Order: sequence, then C-alpha cells, then structure tokens
Amino acid sequence: MNTDQIAATLRARLAEVQAEIARLETATTQELSPKFADQANDLEELATNEGLEVQHIHEAEQILAALARIEKGEYGVCAECGEDIAPARLAALPTATRCIKCAA
Ligand SMILES: [Zn+2]
Repeated sequence: MNTDQIAATLRARLAEVQAEIARLETATTQELSPKFADQANDLEELATNEGLEVQHIHEAEQILAALARIEKGEYGVCAECGEDIAPARLAALPTATRCIKCAA
C-alpha cells in the first residue's frame, strides 16, 4: 500500500467517525424521560454514548495526526527509534506511530 491509498482509507474512516460523533452528540443532548423510572435507563445510555463519543474523538485525533504525518512525509517512521514501521503493521493499524518493537 502506498501513502495515497492509506490517506484515502484514513479519510474515509475519518468521515465515518465524524458522522458517528455527530450522531452520538445528538443522542446525548436529548432530554430525559418524564418518568423517573425511565431516567435511570436514560442516564445509563447517556454514559455509554459519552464513552463511545470520547473513543471516537480519540480515534479522529489519531487519524488526523496520521494524515498530518503523511503530508509532512513522516508517515510510517517510528516516532521512537526512527526505523520504518513494517507495512503489515501499518496495514493492520494505519494510525500506528511506533514500530512493533517500540510499541511492545
Ligand atoms: Zn521503533
């Protein structure tokens, strides 16, 4: 895979993640049920959605960072030891910033 393909994959994933963040954002701003009996469920759902939203935001940040590295020509280089990150590792985890040895 060349970096153009990786960038295209990352942008597609970013669009998905952003859509999901927008969906969760709408879900978390809904009002609680009028009945107290239902509010515990509402709050539980809210907590789950917010947890998911944080995960998605974190993923979006990693994708944006990877796209920035592609732009700067630093993509695929380990941030710790400066060696090339194995293509198989990048294929499995396109946002990886460290080689398998340094990440272990
Ligand atoms: Zn390394």
